[in-house]
Amino acid sequence: MSQASGASATTPVAVPVAPLEEQVWPATAALDSDGVLRVGGLRVDELADEFGTPAFFLDEDDFRARAQAWRAGFPDGDVYYAGKAFLCRAVARWVADEGLSLDVCTGGELAVAASVDFPPARLLFHGNNKSVEELRRAVAYGVGRIVLDSFAEIERLATVARAAGVRQRVLIRVTPGVEAHTHEYIATGQEDQKFGFSLASGAALDAIGRVLAATDALELVGLHAHIGSQIFDTAGFGLAAHRMVGLLATVRDAHGVELPELDLGGGLGIAYTGEDAPLPVADVADRLHTIVGKECASAGLAVPRLAVEPGRAMVGPTTITLYRVGTVKELPGLRTYVSVDGGMSDNIRTALYDARYTARLVSRPGAAEHHVVTLVGKHCESGDVVAHDVSLPADVAPGDLVAVPATGAYHRSMASNYNHVGRPPVVAVRAGAARVVVRRETEDDLLRLDVDDPAGAGAAGPKPGEAGR
Ligand SMILES: *Cc1c(COP(=O)(O)O)cnc(C)c1O
Repeated sequence: MSQASGASATTPVAVPVAPLEEQVWPATAALDSDGVLRVGGLRVDELADEFGTPAFFLDEDDFRARAQAWRAGFPDGDVYYAGKAFLCRAVARWVADEGLSLDVCTGGELAVAASVDFPPARLLFHGNNKSVEELRRAVAYGVGRIVLDSFAEIERLATVARAAGVRQRVLIRVTPGVEAHTHEYIATGQEDQKFGFSLASGAALDAIGRVLAATDALELVGLHAHIGSQIFDTAGFGLAAHRMVGLLATVRDAHGVELPELDLGGGLGIAYTGEDAPLPVADVADRLHTIVGKECASAGLAVPRLAVEPGRAMVGPTTITLYRVGTVKELPGLRTYVSVDGGMSDNIRTALYDARYTARLVSRPGAAEHHVVTLVGKHCESGDVVAHDVSLPADVAPGDLVAVPATGAYHRSMASNYNHVGRPPVVAVRAGAARVVVRRETEDDLLRLDVDDPAGAGAAGPKPGEAGR
């Protein structure tokens, strides 16, 4: 069953193995003396034989340690893991086990949470266009917080809550005019985006008034902001916190209520390459507590209960994608393309955001001499690039295993079936044991959705509302 080629079956070698760049690899990643990577105590050559490639390997201990670090950073607050980064039932259970809360933004994500009986009070449901049906399900499940995102939604949710005989706890999504980009943030007066209520225009204060007026159906517990993603400094968070506390003071002055909660969203950056220097969670937590504490003191407000919603920073660094090299095309004087057995169907970030990665030959040490190559996938699209300009040993060859680290967030969750490729499995590894938590998608899985009905007799698919869990 081994697919090992001659190249990866070399005898033990004395070629020095360059150390792993710690910040981009999962916590338990380590190199054996023969150049083979281990994660969760398991060798990737053996993992590839058992689970095939491409595959995601998720370091469970790393995930739990990150969850604990966030929990420790906000001992009196709430840490919502942003499920959209990567959610499956195992992860939802780990989140629950570690005492964290969970942030969902669709009925599908809510269904995952409900399927493991995630404590409803610890769920938060956000999104700019939740359907009435999604709102009904969220209210029926007892979701702890629903984040209101539009005037239409205030009416919609009030109607749903009244019908259910529930007074729903809500937050209001505010756009504080701080928009974070990868390495910088821009503060704008006009908030040109689909999410939330603008602070500067007065829409946020207007929404707050309307929600307070619907007090029979809605209990306004606080404000919510999320300024962006892959952020590397605390300046953007600081400015957002400053403005949000200012709004809390305005609300007190205008309505005589001190809202008890402030949710500052997610967005903390991670290292994808050796050049990225993410902030430690403890530092971010300290900064946020300090800023909010100071702003509240000067506004004469009690410090609200803080909430944060890390997605990428929790799961991104815990996972690697393992690929097998299929072809190597050298174009002398131009570039070398190294093709692997996955691509834009398991990593859309490179095509979508021009994201940068590192990659490593992980089944043997390889030649000491390295070349800068373009790591590409198998899809029929020239933009199907896994990683631009990565340094691999000059003798990289078909059969070799290549790993790309920091692929835990927004990879499997954004994966597609382009070219009828099945999405890769997610395998949790921990202390020398591996367990599939999301299995590989097969051709049968893909064909199951394809209704071949030559007689036009009508599809026998599920009726609306039957689909779901
Ligand atoms: C996407 C999102 C998050 C998580 O963002 P990360 O960059 O993954 O931390 C948190 N909150 C909201 C509202 C989001 O939309």
